[in-house]
Amino acid sequence: MIKIGILGFQGDIEENANASKKALEHLNIDGQVLHVRYPQQIREIDALIIPGGESTVMGLLAMINNSANVIRDRIMDGMPVLGTCAGMILLAKSAYDRVVGNTKQNLLSLLDIVVERNAFGRQFDSFEVELPIDGISDRFNCVFIRAPVIMEYAGNVKPIARLGNKIVAVKQGNIIGTSFHPELSNDTKMHEYLIKMINSY
Ligand code: GLN
Repeated sequence: MIKIGILGFQGDIEENANASKKALEHLNIDGQVLHVRYPQQIREIDALIIPGGESTVMGLLAMINNSANVIRDRIMDGMPVLGTCAGMILLAKSAYDRVVGNTKQNLLSLLDIVVERNAFGRQFDSFEVELPIDGISDRFNCVFIRAPVIMEYAGNVKPIARLGNKIVAVKQGNIIGTSFHPELSNDTKMHEYLIKMINSY
Protein backbone atom coordinates (compact mmCIF):
# COMPACT_ATOMS: atom_id res chain seq x y z
CA MET A 1 0.00 0.00 0.00
CA ILE A 2 1.44 3.35 -0.97
CA LYS A 3 1.42 6.43 1.23
CA ILE A 4 0.98 9.93 -0.12
CA GLY A 5 1.89 12.72 2.26
CA ILE A 6 0.48 16.23 2.12
CA LEU A 7 2.72 18.71 3.90
CA GLY A 8 0.32 19.77 6.61
CA PHE A 9 1.49 23.09 7.98
CA GLN A 10 -0.79 25.48 6.18
CA GLY A 11 -2.63 26.09 2.90
CA ASP A 12 -4.56 23.84 0.49
CA ILE A 13 -4.12 20.65 2.52
CA GLU A 14 -7.64 19.18 2.39
CA GLU A 15 -8.07 19.93 -1.32
CA ASN A 16 -4.84 18.08 -2.13
CA ALA A 17 -5.84 15.18 0.09
CA ASN A 18 -9.15 14.86 -1.76
CA ALA A 19 -7.54 15.08 -5.20
CA SER A 20 -4.99 12.44 -4.15
CA LYS A 21 -7.70 10.07 -2.92
CA LYS A 22 -9.61 10.47 -6.20
CA ALA A 23 -6.40 9.92 -8.19
CA LEU A 24 -5.76 6.67 -6.29
CA GLU A 25 -9.31 5.53 -7.09
CA HIS A 26 -8.93 6.36 -10.79
CA LEU A 27 -5.69 4.42 -10.94
CA ASN A 28 -7.18 1.61 -8.90
CA ILE A 29 -4.23 1.71 -6.51
CA ASP A 30 -4.47 0.84 -2.86
CA GLY A 31 -3.12 3.81 -0.96
CA GLN A 32 -3.38 6.09 2.01
CA VAL A 33 -3.28 9.88 2.13
CA LEU A 34 -1.72 11.41 5.23
CA HIS A 35 -1.10 14.90 6.53
CA VAL A 36 2.58 15.04 7.41
CA ARG A 37 4.45 17.58 9.48
CA TYR A 38 7.12 15.80 11.49
CA PRO A 39 10.38 14.21 10.34
CA GLN A 40 9.27 10.68 11.29
CA GLN A 41 6.07 11.00 9.24
CA ILE A 42 8.00 12.28 6.25
CA ARG A 43 10.38 9.31 6.40
CA GLU A 44 7.43 6.93 5.89
CA ILE A 45 5.73 8.29 2.77
CA ASP A 46 6.19 7.36 -0.90
CA ALA A 47 5.33 10.73 -2.45
CA LEU A 48 4.89 14.25 -1.12
CA ILE A 49 2.66 17.17 -2.07
CA ILE A 50 3.63 20.64 -0.90
CA PRO A 51 0.40 22.63 -1.19
CA GLY A 52 -0.30 26.21 -2.12
CA GLY A 53 -0.63 28.70 0.69
CA GLU A 54 1.96 31.07 2.03
CA SER A 55 5.51 30.01 1.21
CA THR A 56 7.21 32.13 3.88
CA VAL A 57 5.12 30.55 6.66
CA MET A 58 5.56 26.98 5.40
CA GLY A 59 9.30 27.48 4.96
CA LEU A 60 9.70 28.83 8.47
CA LEU A 61 7.68 26.05 10.13
CA ALA A 62 9.46 23.31 8.17
CA MET A 63 12.80 24.69 9.26
CA ILE A 64 11.86 25.13 12.91
CA ASN A 65 10.77 21.52 13.43
CA ASN A 66 13.60 20.11 11.30
CA SER A 67 11.28 18.55 8.71
CA ALA A 68 12.93 20.65 5.98
CA ASN A 69 16.12 18.56 6.24
CA VAL A 70 14.23 15.29 6.00
CA ILE A 71 12.16 16.53 3.05
CA ARG A 72 15.35 17.52 1.25
CA ASP A 73 17.01 14.15 1.90
CA ARG A 74 13.97 12.18 0.75
CA ILE A 75 13.58 14.23 -2.45
CA MET A 76 17.28 13.90 -3.23
CA ASP A 77 16.85 10.14 -2.75
CA GLY A 78 14.18 10.10 -5.48
CA MET A 79 10.86 10.48 -3.67
CA PRO A 80 8.40 12.11 -6.12
CA VAL A 81 7.20 15.54 -5.03
CA LEU A 82 4.60 17.94 -6.39
CA GLY A 83 4.87 21.56 -5.30
CA THR A 84 1.93 23.73 -6.25
CA CYS A 85 2.13 27.52 -6.17
CA ALA A 86 3.66 28.32 -2.74
CA GLY A 87 4.86 24.69 -2.73
CA MET A 88 6.82 25.30 -5.92
CA ILE A 89 8.32 28.45 -4.40
CA LEU A 90 9.48 26.38 -1.43
CA LEU A 91 11.20 23.88 -3.73
CA ALA A 92 12.96 26.61 -5.75
CA LYS A 93 16.58 27.69 -5.53
CA SER A 94 15.70 31.35 -5.48
CA ALA A 95 12.64 33.59 -5.07
CA TYR A 96 12.04 37.30 -5.38
CA ASP A 97 9.19 39.70 -5.82
CA ARG A 98 9.04 42.93 -7.73
CA VAL A 99 8.53 45.07 -4.64
CA VAL A 100 11.17 43.84 -2.18
CA GLY A 101 13.57 41.99 -4.52
CA ASN A 102 15.08 38.80 -3.03
CA THR A 103 12.56 37.64 -0.44
CA LYS A 104 15.27 36.00 1.72
CA GLN A 105 12.85 33.29 2.82
CA ASN A 106 13.65 29.70 3.81
CA LEU A 107 13.69 27.56 0.67
CA LEU A 108 14.43 23.88 0.08
CA SER A 109 16.62 24.94 -2.89
CA LEU A 110 16.24 21.70 -4.83
CA LEU A 111 14.49 22.80 -8.00
CA ASP A 112 16.85 24.72 -10.25
CA ILE A 113 14.57 27.67 -10.96
CA VAL A 114 14.24 31.33 -10.07
CA VAL A 115 10.64 32.30 -9.34
CA GLU A 116 8.96 35.65 -9.18
CA ARG A 117 6.27 35.62 -6.51
CA ASN A 118 2.88 37.21 -7.17
CA ALA A 119 4.01 37.63 -10.75
CA PHE A 120 0.65 38.42 -12.31
CA GLY A 121 0.06 41.57 -10.28
CA ARG A 122 -3.13 42.77 -8.63
CA GLN A 123 -5.33 43.01 -11.70
CA PHE A 124 -4.86 39.29 -12.33
CA ASP A 125 -4.91 38.21 -8.72
CA SER A 126 -6.73 34.99 -9.57
CA PHE A 127 -7.95 33.48 -12.82
CA GLU A 128 -8.48 30.18 -14.60
CA VAL A 129 -7.27 29.10 -18.00
CA GLU A 130 -7.03 25.81 -19.89
CA LEU A 131 -3.51 24.88 -20.91
CA PRO A 132 -1.76 21.84 -22.33
CA ILE A 133 0.76 20.22 -19.97
CA ASP A 134 3.44 18.11 -21.64
CA GLY A 135 3.02 14.41 -20.93
CA ILE A 136 0.07 15.00 -18.58
CA SER A 137 -2.92 16.56 -20.34
CA ASP A 138 -3.88 18.23 -23.63
CA ARG A 139 -6.20 20.58 -21.78
CA PHE A 140 -5.88 21.13 -18.07
CA ASN A 141 -7.97 23.66 -16.18
CA CYS A 142 -5.29 25.72 -14.42
CA VAL A 143 -6.34 27.84 -11.44
CA PHE A 144 -3.94 30.67 -10.63
CA ILE A 145 -4.11 32.46 -7.26
CA ARG A 146 -1.49 35.12 -6.49
CA ALA A 147 0.70 32.87 -8.54
CA PRO A 148 4.45 32.79 -9.05
CA VAL A 149 6.08 32.45 -12.48
CA ILE A 150 9.27 30.63 -13.40
CA MET A 151 11.63 33.31 -14.68
CA GLU A 152 14.81 31.27 -15.11
CA TYR A 153 15.66 27.60 -15.18
CA ALA A 154 18.84 25.58 -15.49
CA GLY A 155 20.25 22.06 -15.23
CA ASN A 156 17.76 19.28 -15.86
CA VAL A 157 14.66 21.43 -15.52
CA LYS A 158 12.13 21.02 -18.32
CA PRO A 159 9.30 23.50 -18.80
CA ILE A 160 6.07 21.51 -19.24
CA ALA A 161 3.45 24.29 -19.42
CA ARG A 162 3.38 27.88 -20.57
CA LEU A 163 0.87 30.68 -20.42
CA GLY A 164 1.81 32.92 -23.32
CA ASN A 165 5.55 33.36 -22.89
CA LYS A 166 5.48 32.65 -19.15
CA ILE A 167 6.61 29.25 -17.85
CA VAL A 168 4.03 27.98 -15.35
CA ALA A 169 5.03 24.34 -14.76
CA VAL A 170 8.34 22.48 -14.73
CA LYS A 171 9.70 19.01 -14.16
CA GLN A 172 13.16 18.15 -12.91
CA GLY A 173 13.42 14.39 -12.52
CA ASN A 174 11.23 13.43 -9.56
CA ILE A 175 10.24 17.06 -8.84
CA ILE A 176 7.22 18.80 -10.39
CA GLY A 177 6.43 22.45 -9.75
CA THR A 178 3.31 24.29 -10.88
CA SER A 179 2.39 27.97 -10.62
CA PHE A 180 -1.27 26.96 -10.54
CA HIS A 181 -3.39 24.78 -8.23
CA PRO A 182 -4.16 21.39 -9.83
CA GLU A 183 -6.07 20.35 -6.69
CA LEU A 184 -8.71 23.01 -7.43
CA SER A 185 -9.67 21.81 -10.89
CA ASN A 186 -11.92 18.82 -11.20
CA ASP A 187 -9.15 16.89 -12.89
CA THR A 188 -6.82 14.53 -11.07
CA LYS A 189 -4.32 13.94 -13.89
CA MET A 190 -1.53 15.86 -12.18
CA HIS A 191 -1.99 13.88 -8.96
CA GLU A 192 -2.18 10.65 -10.97
CA TYR A 193 1.07 11.58 -12.67
CA LEU A 194 2.76 12.06 -9.30
CA ILE A 195 1.55 8.64 -8.11
CA LYS A 196 2.79 6.98 -11.30
CA MET A 197 6.25 8.42 -10.65
CA ILE A 198 6.61 6.35 -7.44
CA ASN A 199 9.32 3.72 -7.88
CA SER A 200 10.58 5.21 -11.11
CA TYR A 201 13.44 7.25 -9.62
N1 GLN B 1 1.67 34.26 -3.10
C1 GLN B 1 1.91 33.07 -2.32
C2 GLN B 1 3.38 32.97 -1.91
O1 GLN B 1 4.18 33.68 -2.42
C3 GLN B 1 1.55 31.85 -3.12
C4 GLN B 1 0.07 31.84 -3.39
C5 GLN B 1 -0.53 30.48 -3.46
O2 GLN B 1 0.05 29.47 -3.07
N2 GLN B 1 -1.75 30.46 -3.95
O3 GLN B 1 3.71 32.20 -1.06
